[in-house]
Amino acid sequence: MARIVMKFGGTSVADLDRIKNVARHVKREVDAGHEVAVVVSAMSGKTNELVGWVQNMPKVSGANHSIYDAREYDAVVASGEQVTSGLLAIALQAMGINARSWQGWQIPIRTDNAHGAARILEIDGGEMVRRMKEGQVAVVAGFQGLGPDNRLSTLGRGGSDTSAVAIAAAVKADRCDIYTDVDGVYTTDPRIEPKARRLKKIAFEEMLEMASLGAKVLQVRSVELAMVFKVRTFVRSSFEDPDAPGMGDLLNPPGTLICDEEEIVEQEVVTGIAYAKDEAQISLRRLDDRPGVSAAIFGPLAESHINVDMIVQNISEDGSKTDMTFTVPSGDAEKALRVLGENKEKIGYDVVQSESGLVKVSVIGVGMRSHAGVAATAFRALAEKGINIKAITTSEIKISILIDGPYAELAVRTLHSCYGLDKS
Ligand code: ADP
Ligand code: ASP
Ligand code: MG
Repeated sequence: MARIVMKFGGTSVADLDRIKNVARHVKREVDAGHEVAVVVSAMSGKTNELVGWVQNMPKVSGANHSIYDAREYDAVVASGEQVTSGLLAIALQAMGINARSWQGWQIPIRTDNAHGAARILEIDGGEMVRRMKEGQVAVVAGFQGLGPDNRLSTLGRGGSDTSAVAIAAAVKADRCDIYTDVDGVYTTDPRIEPKARRLKKIAFEEMLEMASLGAKVLQVRSVELAMVFKVRTFVRSSFEDPDAPGMGDLLNPPGTLICDEEEIVEQEVVTGIAYAKDEAQISLRRLDDRPGVSAAIFGPLAESHINVDMIVQNISEDGSKTDMTFTVPSGDAEKALRVLGENKEKIGYDVVQSESGLVKVSVIGVGMRSHAGVAATAFRALAEKGINIKAITTSEIKISILIDGPYAELAVRTLHSCYGLDKS
């Protein structure tokens, strides 16, 4: 007997038939004698629809721009998961399984006050565990919790992954299975590169980089939690026949295991390629080259909650003026330009230029730590395809390259094949 947390994403619960199919996956584990908690997302497309509704409502004029009450945003967008948790509980009951739904506030899943992108602080799983021990399946609405203000909170897009891993840690589950529309983590997004290969295992650090650099298969925070709390997390498919051989394997279920580097025997130099669309590049020209200028630029941007990514500062030709270039998500570009405009005097620059619709492609692998020439291979391969590089950043285990939007797919495929990741 084991304790298992099973999470099903939006496409897995997209309609009533798929919810019934999910119930069969749950039944398989229940019949095997396991204690089960299930975490569900909203039906695919639902959260986008709810977010759209909020964005189309009239807003209050705030200090810098129009705003809406983030607590009410959460009240609206958390509703999609309430529906699927109830429906799945009903489907399970119809199969003769003792099940009930749990909303975030009922458990409760306590979060901080950052409405719209809250972090889980504490989960009191006591009552849930007591009932699981009695054989009741807990069907938990993902993505949502309860803030310190006693209001509903949500965990940021893709947050049901984080709900699942956090619950698995809280109830000390033996395993957390993230069921989705692909059968594991691939060397790159299989929708972009059909030659992508499924990985049997991927190291926590690599998965963290993949997720933060754009591979949306797992929310970044869920990988952080899995790493810190040592949750045995698998990514696997909900579209396979729930009763196919091996699906109920306790130790080696089909899919990809996220694990410690040491668990991976045949470590490649490069593990995967990720990409993030909709990046914008902002350049400040003829900037005063003096101590404090970076703080003058990035301080106000941070205060406005703008996530700055790649930063490149040119060497000053005459010692007095320089150029600074950085990237932000395209959606934040307008806000960033406004903040820079408001601080023009304090920063001291001549003109600001911006370009949207760029893409960041990244090469990831812990093997890079001990191998030279990985970056050069990427640059050569992109050059051969005539793809111009606009900015580069590197860390120990990743190289990120900024390019023009239309080249995204070609760049992903080029990098994927130049490191021999294509399946034979
Ligand atoms: P869910 O609704 O189940 O949470 P998501 O759409 O959030 O599913 O994540 C699954 C998707 O992630 C896949 O359909 C796939 O297109 C995308 N994806 C991006 N990069 C990868 C990767 N390296 N491996 C697998 N899937 C990836
Ligand atoms: N339904 C939420 C979203 O679309 C959470 C999730 O699916 O993980 O972002
Ligand atoms: Mg997701």
